[in-house]
Amino acid sequence: MLKPENLADNMTGEVAFLLGNEAVARGLVESGVRVATTYPGTPSSEVGDTIARFARKSGIYFQYSVNEKVAYEIAYAASLSGKRSFTFMKVVGMNVAADSLMTSAYTGVEAGLVIMTADDPSMFSSQNEQDNRHFSDLAHIPLIEPSSPQEAKDFLKHAFELSEAEKLPVLFRTTTRVSHQRAPVTFGDVASGSGKSTFKRNIPQYLPFQPYSSRMKNELMEKMARISRFSDETVLNQLERKGSGKTGVIVSGAAYGPLIDVVNEHDLDVSILKLGLVNPLPEKLVLEFLGNHKEVVVVEELDPFVETKIRSLAQMNGITTSITGKLDGVFPSSFEYTQNVIAGSLSKILPVDAEHVDAKPHTEIPSRPPVMCPGCPHRGTYYAVKRAVGMSKIENVIYPSDIGCYSLGVFEPFEMSDVLLSMGSSIGTAQGFALSAGQTVISFIGDSTFFHAGMPSLVNAVHNGAKMILVILDNAVTAMTGQQPNPGSSMGSLGDPAPYARIEDLVASAGVEKISIVDPFDIKSTMRAVTEGLHFDGLSVIIARRECAIYADQKKKKIAPLVPYYVDKDKCTSCRNCVEKFSCPAISVDSGTVSIDPKLCDGCGLCSEIYVCPFRAIKSVEA
Ligand code: SF4
Ligand code: SF4
Repeated sequence: MLKPENLADNMTGEVAFLLGNEAVARGLVESGVRVATTYPGTPSSEVGDTIARFARKSGIYFQYSVNEKVAYEIAYAASLSGKRSFTFMKVVGMNVAADSLMTSAYTGVEAGLVIMTADDPSMFSSQNEQDNRHFSDLAHIPLIEPSSPQEAKDFLKHAFELSEAEKLPVLFRTTTRVSHQRAPVTFGDVASGSGKSTFKRNIPQYLPFQPYSSRMKNELMEKMARISRFSDETVLNQLERKGSGKTGVIVSGAAYGPLIDVVNEHDLDVSILKLGLVNPLPEKLVLEFLGNHKEVVVVEELDPFVETKIRSLAQMNGITTSITGKLDGVFPSSFEYTQNVIAGSLSKILPVDAEHVDAKPHTEIPSRPPVMCPGCPHRGTYYAVKRAVGMSKIENVIYPSDIGCYSLGVFEPFEMSDVLLSMGSSIGTAQGFALSAGQTVISFIGDSTFFHAGMPSLVNAVHNGAKMILVILDNAVTAMTGQQPNPGSSMGSLGDPAPYARIEDLVASAGVEKISIVDPFDIKSTMRAVTEGLHFDGLSVIIARRECAIYADQKKKKIAPLVPYYVDKDKCTSCRNCVEKFSCPAISVDSGTVSIDPKLCDGCGLCSEIYVCPFRAIKSVEA
């Protein structure tokens, strides 16, 4: 298996079995990209993890930025300075970047600029399944959509060429199936990328004020009209298969793979027009395709984005070919398209054996809710907050939560999460509850999320006199997506030592008067801080600080093996507090006997605290 650090090497013609996200990273090398930025988020995270491994030797500047908007702005400015630039993010990250993206379409770019959105049909790791193809309509920028890891690499090159030719940012959309699929990828040449570059002042081009902005809008529409004509000729849009002329299928993105499987399995007599440059639509190509078939089926995941455009095009050109897709209810508008989903839908109109088709969007597998890792400091924080609230006798506490590992506080035994919208929303919603619900409010946010979108909301809370407790769970990294650094980490994007922001200083300068810094492994102190916050008439912030267990264990294991804990059977009373109220996955009960699995235990020792095991029955193997 090829190591990520070797992905930038010259290997023209060689084939490697790559993850879609690794293929994207390789695509940057073959496209001569010089600046890449991101905020980590599944399903795009591995792109950054891979670039970080080869950035230095490939000459690519790579950065984990504080949020997607900043990431995009850095890439945009690098493009204006003459360097091909790339920024990538998970599906909901586009909402954050969109503010700057919209206007950058007006100003245009210089060197190629591509923004990748990793969409997540079926919401495997996202809070909604928004279809980000709509951003290409909203911003009037071209949209390219690969259907496989090979295309993810190859299409990127086309995206940069198009961006540079028309001086427009290009939207590059993958979905989880493309990002996380492994497939053989053939390498092309490594591109050298531009060397020295400069920014040339051009006020009428880069400052969207009137009268410049009206001219910019007109130019933007002209660019899209030109790209529409280009869309008819590009290799990205291809007639992949020719049938007898009765039925044609127009497909885009990740739906192509399962569609081909269904077509081959059932030996269907269909032509297939595959779209890679999806917006603007290749109108001439589509009109010809419609004219050559009696019926045309549009296959695409999520919204009827392509279908709506095709129906409109047919109507404007008086074409009466029957069009089938989502809008007539044949295909579903939600969730990932598997082979079964496509076969189930096609069986309504084509000779596909529906009896052998399970059209349910998900395969039935036993539910396995995610859990906090053994040794996770968040467990200590939630345990202490829950105990302190219980002892205070305050009822109906509202717990707004946020995006990160600590979202898992919603599950048993803690059940301390009442509402969650987006990055940083815990602090905004907490203020709304504090002023309107008449109940105590304790909100939770992680360090990375606090930097990403929580800080403005905290300033707002202070300025408007919100009465609430904010718990900032500071584990030093962006843990949920793979322990990437954030501005509070002492390491930079490539693992080197870096200056870092101190959360307590930021919180204090926002005007928060009551700040406690606790170690969540010190349950007594954490409980005391919560109790004080509950009795404080104002806004109090508790910073619960301890490194992510996985991140800390990686470092500890380099020095010595982890030493697990065990349950002393002579002292254990089987009270089950450690199992039912604390719930570390390393602790279990078998036939009434409580034990710790030494393979799972990371030796954090938190369960040995008297607040967890009142009988001091849990001990270190080493003691
Ligand atoms: S908390 Fe202590 S005494 Fe109670 S079951 Fe767990 S190990 Fe045994
Ligand atoms: S020491 Fe206790 S809390 Fe820590 S990982 Fe082991 S079993 Fe879990």
